[in-house]
Amino acid sequence: MTPSKAQPILSANPGAGYQRLKAELDAAVARVLQSGWYILGRENEAFEQEFAHYLGAAHALGVANGTDAVELALRAAGIGPGDLVVTVAHTAVATVAAIERIGARPYLVDISPATYTLNPAALQGAVAGPAKGARAVVPVHLYGHPADMDAILKIAHENKLTVVEDCAQAHGAFYRGRRTGTIGQLSAFSFYPTKNLGALGDGGAVATHDPALAERVRLLRQYGWRERYVSEIPGLNSRLDEMQAAILRVKLAHLDAANARRRQIAAHYSQGLAGLPLRLPTTAAGCEHVFHQYTIETDQRDALQQTLHKAGIGSAVLYPVPIHLQPAYRGRLQGADRLPCTEAAAGRILSLPMYPELEDEQIASVCRTIRSLVA
Ligand SMILES: *Cc1c(COP(=O)(O)O)cnc(C)c1O
Repeated sequence: MTPSKAQPILSANPGAGYQRLKAELDAAVARVLQSGWYILGRENEAFEQEFAHYLGAAHALGVANGTDAVELALRAAGIGPGDLVVTVAHTAVATVAAIERIGARPYLVDISPATYTLNPAALQGAVAGPAKGARAVVPVHLYGHPADMDAILKIAHENKLTVVEDCAQAHGAFYRGRRTGTIGQLSAFSFYPTKNLGALGDGGAVATHDPALAERVRLLRQYGWRERYVSEIPGLNSRLDEMQAAILRVKLAHLDAANARRRQIAAHYSQGLAGLPLRLPTTAAGCEHVFHQYTIETDQRDALQQTLHKAGIGSAVLYPVPIHLQPAYRGRLQGADRLPCTEAAAGRILSLPMYPELEDEQIASVCRTIRSLVA
């Protein structure tokens, strides 16, 4: 059978994740429907405890989505209007959107080309010069690979920066023996359906070791309420619903197995693509990658994506236009004039199909199709 006649291979497939755990997920949803309580209840509390325990963090708070999680983490740390917050342009627009939503000013720094994550030398250069006085840094553990946290923490400590980890693509990853999301003062997770830990709708969480920060997030996510109907501080509505919390409890119990399968798929890709003129993903020493994406680089990116598409194979470019070059942001973000690695990556990267249910034969078929073009 030629690849074009085979079943199409999706680049991500949250529906397959539902089918695999259907009985458990259906039971969890039915339990919530029967309960008569639909937002911020027992399921959310249980999920918060289970997720905090999984991470090795003292606290986790369920919120409405990952963008809100970044916003609430920054706000809880006292970051606000006019404050400079250093982050990367090679990330989901959400990271920068959250910074701007609290009135803070994003300052963009470049990535390290080997890991696609924030380059500590660029952070150092920024806070020693144009971003002097910055209040926070948001490193993003992109594609499932942890950022270089020891170097980032050292610079943050010396410059009194709050560290908010953007963990939206790195649920369960390890950095030097610790889970990502337990290293900075606060961390933000998204449970968008395609993430490594995905709900069947929107969801997010903030994690922290600090009880005072946790309490602030708890208040902020619901109108500043400690006591119902009494706003102690101005807050917002960013609640996790019980259905998603119940679904996430089921998915969390399978997260390590799902991440292990992602690593196995990555290893199959790396074997199947060895020797080709492509740049394959690497894992830095002391890190455990969770392969939210398996991202390769080639100067024939567009041709390769076309070839895959014709063979019925999905792929994705995360992200085709760096944030500082997108219409909403072009010409107005600080640091945007020194992002050569970010700009170079955008034209060369391609993420191959990646989800735990991907079958070995499908992986082989993707590799054969790539070989047919680039060998
Ligand atoms: C998905 C994602 C977010 C935003 O999450 P939402 O739940 O979609 O709001 C933030 N940062 C990164 C790096 C992401 O991949």
